[in-house]
Amino acid sequence: MDRTLLTVVVAAFNEEAALPLLHPRLATVLDGLRAGGVESRVLYVDDGSRDGSWRVLQQIAAADPRVALLRLSRNFGKEAALTAGLDLIDEGAALLLDADGQDPPELIPQFVAKWREGFDDVHGTRTLREGEGWLKKSTAHGFYRLIGRLSKTPIPADTGDFRLLSPRALAALRQLRERHRFMKGLFGWIGFRQVSIPYQREARVAGDSKFNFWRLWNFALEGITSFTTAPLRLATYLGVVTALLAFAYALWIVAKALLWGDPVAGWPTMMSVILFLGGVQLVALGLIGEYLGRLYTESKQRPLYLVDTWRPASGVSSAQAPAGDSDAHRTPVARGENA
Ligand code: UDP
Ligand code: MG
Repeated sequence: MDRTLLTVVVAAFNEEAALPLLHPRLATVLDGLRAGGVESRVLYVDDGSRDGSWRVLQQIAAADPRVALLRLSRNFGKEAALTAGLDLIDEGAALLLDADGQDPPELIPQFVAKWREGFDDVHGTRTLREGEGWLKKSTAHGFYRLIGRLSKTPIPADTGDFRLLSPRALAALRQLRERHRFMKGLFGWIGFRQVSIPYQREARVAGDSKFNFWRLWNFALEGITSFTTAPLRLATYLGVVTALLAFAYALWIVAKALLWGDPVAGWPTMMSVILFLGGVQLVALGLIGEYLGRLYTESKQRPLYLVDTWRPASGVSSAQAPAGDSDAHRTPVARGENA
């Protein structure tokens, strides 16, 4: 198989400050790759930015014939934006990169080298995270350990979206059209030959993180509910344990009434038991609700994203029009004029 074409996919949401800093670094790296016999392109996906990102991207594309642009109709979230970008790649490998410089583009040649050795999924594993608070670091650490234990799919710890996917890994990923996209899990699910490259995660070059705590919490819930049903089982066990305890307690109450009579008392115990059981039941219901809600969105079969504008790279001849979602033959993709 010839391993000579690479597309770098960058999802950007409100990154007007970071993009002009990132692109020159990326361009230098890609020039180096060309010298080594690998042609590369860049595909920026504007995930419905509300700042000047799109204008900045158009300037970048006008100056660099390797750059293609895709603008989504609104902010669909990073996972959908990456999916949109990956859907467009019809040849060669893909490399996912954050727009904020936290994944250093200078490491790309190492990724490419591993790919040329025959690996399908080369991912960066963070050994150090700079510019992030201890709370984010420790919760992220805990989350990766938890999901690693709960999920049957191998999900490498401390590994984000900074990775290279071979054409067959891309083709495999494209078959997974679920709406709740926990990408780290999807990458793990497809398998193939994986290898990790340790790297130090740098601080953002500009702008602010788009993931606040609430978003990260939801992201964690997404990961857990998408890749394991362990919480449902936990509810079952909790129910069984509570029922056993309740049974033992009932025996005790009956015995006590028979031995010492039954003066009306025990209001506090009754209240605590009722409240406790009510709480346990609500938690279990909520858990079921989490899964049911996901089933509901999944059943609607909506496309994962909609395209506003597609601007192919001017220097690449085989640029094809975006297929949008793979369901596009049924769902017309709102496609704007080429920019
Ligand atoms: N991003 C995106 N859509 C979103 C949120 C983020 O495309 O809705 C992009 C963002 O522009 C960046 C990458 O995803 O390129 C990672 O986001 P961020 O740096 O905010 O996350 P963090 O590194 O803090 O986890
Ligand atoms: Mg970042």
